[in-house]
This record gives sequence, structure tokens and C-alpha cells, in this order.
Amino acid sequence: MLADIRIVMVNTTHSGNIGAAARAMKNMGLAQLTLVDPIACIDDEAIQRASRADEILHNAVIVDTLEEAIADCHWVVGTSARSRHIPWPLLTPRQCAAKAAAIAPQGNRIAVVFGRESRGLTNEELHLCHAHVHIPTDENFSSLNVAQAIQLISYEMRLAALALATPGDDATGTMDQPWGVEWDHPLASHGDVNGMMLHLEQTLLDIGFLDPNTPKQLMSRLRRLFQRAALDTTEVNILRGILATVQRQHTQGVVSDSTQAPNGDEQHDQTTA
Ligand code: SAH
Repeated sequence: MLADIRIVMVNTTHSGNIGAAARAMKNMGLAQLTLVDPIACIDDEAIQRASRADEILHNAVIVDTLEEAIADCHWVVGTSARSRHIPWPLLTPRQCAAKAAAIAPQGNRIAVVFGRESRGLTNEELHLCHAHVHIPTDENFSSLNVAQAIQLISYEMRLAALALATPGDDATGTMDQPWGVEWDHPLASHGDVNGMMLHLEQTLLDIGFLDPNTPKQLMSRLRRLFQRAALDTTEVNILRGILATVQRQHTQGVVSDSTQAPNGDEQHDQTTA
């Protein structure tokens, strides 16, 4: 399970924090580190702070965007020191690790995303995540050093993995199937759901439901809905099929409307028939 967990650090400013994160991960048996557009580089300080975990630094994957970092993941959790505008599913580190332990054995890839030292993750970045995790700190001083936050989350992941490896020890509930039954299709990856969300957004623009001038939180709320449902690959395909049909029908409707008599008599006849 621990091998299927990816730690993602966004725009990290201090190389020492990247090194300390690698050490924290290796202590707990995690190995996959992805750096999204890092401001710091993997320098001598990072290597020193990593102690003997420098192989994690050498194998770190560097990408430009958070979406790239998580595209192939099936469950993505964002960490935050404070609560944000729209409520989002919120887990404790222990609940997060229990859920990871429940879904990782079915081959699901998991990402835990950590933010900038100065201002954490943006709301847009947090909305790309299925759930958020808050380490319960003193309310008046809630922000941990990012590498220490990675240490705590990795520790909980390790505890859950150890519980999973102990037959008959179901104390954390980690042996449960996520839906109480073996599922028939694999969970959709973040990239699959993202593709569907872009398709949905385009369809809502086409049919005039989404006003690009006042989008408000519509797409965030719809994303939250679909992410909460934990769609499988077949469900994503069905939804995309529906969207494609709506777009086709709409285009045909627009074309036939524009070829109808401009006085609209025909339309009136249809609605009263
Ligand atoms: N000042 C920022 C906090 C940045 S701390 C803010 O107010 O958002 C850097 C990162 O460490 C955070 O983005 C988060 O990934 C992690 N972190 C720090 N404290 C945390 C906490 N209490 N719970 C969960 N993650 C935390």
C-alpha cells in the first residue's frame, strides 16, 4: 500500500523542506515524491536534510502543473491548515489513512498534496482533490512546517498499512471494501474525471446553462459532487456519452432553428400541438 501513495509538493520554496520531506517519507516507507513547479531546487541543503533518503530526491518527478502530478491517481487528498470557502469532504489524518488502506489494495493510486510554505494550496488546487485533510492543531497556531505535516500524514499511512498487514486486526476498519462489496469496474483516474468535467463545462456553455460572465461556483460544486461519488471508469464513459448526445442534439437544434421561418410560427405550432 505505501508504494501506491504519492506525496505531491506544490511550489516549494525551501530546498531544506524538500530534503526533510524525503527523509520523513523514507522513515515511514513511502517512496514516490512529485514536485509541482518547485521554486527551490534539489541542492546540497536538500540532500543534507534528506540524510540517507537522497534516492527519493533523485527519483523525484518534477512536473509543471498539479493536474499533471495527479492525472493517473484514483484518489487525491489535499492538506490544509485552515478551512476554506465551500465546504469539502474533510478527513482527519487517521480517517484519510484508513480510506487509503481500504482502496490501495485494489490497485488504486493515491496522492496527498501539500502546499506552499507561504500560503498553502489555492482554492482551485484544493478543489481538484476528492477530500481534504486537516491535522488537528491548536486553532490559534494551525500551520505546521510542510515537511512536518508530511511526516505526520506518512506516519498515519504507515500505521494503517501495518494494521492491514496484520490478519484479523480490523481495529481501524481498514479491511473493509470501500463500498462493502467487490466493485465491478476500476475507479476512474483523476485525469478521466477531469476530462469529463471539461466536457461537462463545454456542454453547459453550449446549452447556455453556464454563463461565462457569472460562473460563480457552479463548476466547483459539480466537481465536488462527482468527486464525492467516486466514479468508476464505466460511469465516466456513460456520462461522457450523455454529454456527447446533448451536444449533438443541441447543435442539430441550433442548425434546424436557424433554417426555420424567422417568424417562429412553426415553433409555436409544435409547442401547442
Ligand atoms: N500559511 C499557509 C500554511 C502553509 S503550511 C496557510 O495558511 O494555508 C504549508 C503546507 O503544510 C500546507 O499547504 C499543508 O500542505 C501543510 N500543513 C501545514 N499545517 C497543516 C495542518 N494543520 N493540517 C494539514 N496540513 C498542514
